[in-house]
Amino acid sequence: MRKVCKFGGSSLANAGQIQKVIDIVSSDPGRQFIVVSAPGKGRPSELKITDLLIGLAKARLNGFDGKREYELISRRITALAHDLNISTELLGIIEENILNAANSSIENAAAYEAQLKAQGEDACARILAEALTLAGIEAHYMSPADAGILLYGTHDDAEIDPQSYTLLSQLRYEERTLVIPGFYGISQDGEVLTFSRGGSDISGAIIAAGVDAEIYEIWTDVDSVYAVNPELVDEPKQIKEISYREMRELAYLGASVVHPEAMLPIYNKAIPIHILNTNNPDAKGTKIVRERSNFDGVVTGISGSRNFCSLNISEYLLNRRVGIVKDILSILAEEGVSFEHMPSSIDSLSIILRDESLPKSKEENIIRRLTDELELESVELVRGLALVMLVGEAMADTVGVTSRAVNCLSAASISLEMIIQDHSEMSVIFVVDGKFCNYAIETLYYEYF
Ligand code: ASP
Repeated sequence: MRKVCKFGGSSLANAGQIQKVIDIVSSDPGRQFIVVSAPGKGRPSELKITDLLIGLAKARLNGFDGKREYELISRRITALAHDLNISTELLGIIEENILNAANSSIENAAAYEAQLKAQGEDACARILAEALTLAGIEAHYMSPADAGILLYGTHDDAEIDPQSYTLLSQLRYEERTLVIPGFYGISQDGEVLTFSRGGSDISGAIIAAGVDAEIYEIWTDVDSVYAVNPELVDEPKQIKEISYREMRELAYLGASVVHPEAMLPIYNKAIPIHILNTNNPDAKGTKIVRERSNFDGVVTGISGSRNFCSLNISEYLLNRRVGIVKDILSILAEEGVSFEHMPSSIDSLSIILRDESLPKSKEENIIRRLTDELELESVELVRGLALVMLVGEAMADTVGVTSRAVNCLSAASISLEMIIQDHSEMSVIFVVDGKFCNYAIETLYYEYF
């Protein structure tokens, strides 16, 4: 069975963790395409290598020599190499690559930072390939450029160029175990572009689609995806199976086990993702599938997040103003503000946004433009909101899910600002005062699980 396995930063944080990765790869010959993140925090006081590289880039961009930042990176890499008996030759190559990236032109700050950030994954892939070889597995490092990961767009939030899938399909004829750095790829002009943070999950998904993998394993540090944030509830329910869409919805409000964009490349091929724990490889994990066959409850999971705001617009006979929504959204678009949801009634509508999309600096101008240019009767901004969401594909076929939730929230004296549900009925969102966010999540969890 052809498998793509992505190992996250915590699975690669030090030599002890990398040894577990070697054992996992060795235990199954199907684990042929290995995608790595950069080493994460070995200890709570340590920083992730990616953050150290960003620190180095920022220091250089701000006119400092970055010597202290470079030393920290070099110390971590050297310790890893030493503990895994990596050759001095390979260590020399890695250090030279990092120094070359650090000494490259800073003229384009975003390009400079992307090139440095990519070094964490690159170094890690080279080290793991040699460590696997020392353990008796014929493993080879392959750069994203050689594998065929072509990207376009911005330097720190790139997108996949569809040509990549044709290039990657050649890897199906490989016999060797390949270790490929995640998180970055190359543009048509040979520039390094990265995905957004945590983007090695996307690299693995692209490779899984390109090589037609039977399964895409994501190895991390939890036994499964949980029905609710485990920081809020003791021993929450472990989810055995979840659909791509349910996972995407839960990730939207903070369930962070998988990057929300990682489902897209494998959607059409319906390749299942299996979440597994490097520290407990015998745990069953969670399967993320395109179509679910097992439903063991109406609600699959609950998530929630603070830091939302709402632009509340009202005017008598608002529903009669043809094109008003287009005009409102045009103003937001002109100001570079993206919105999340838009519940409405006859004479009013609310535009719900993340606080970060509508910073204080833009607030006054946007309210003024909406009021003056569109002559709207009332426009007010309410901050401090939270969105709490029930997710479950089975909700569409079940009567009374929302009323049960509303009853239990009202019994807990949590007042609802708004309720949002679309035609898919796969999720229902309750907008509440931010201070009730965690309490609402806990209340709903104990109601449904
Ligand atoms: N190393 C990158 C990060 O920390 C990408 C990843 O881990 O997937 O965001």
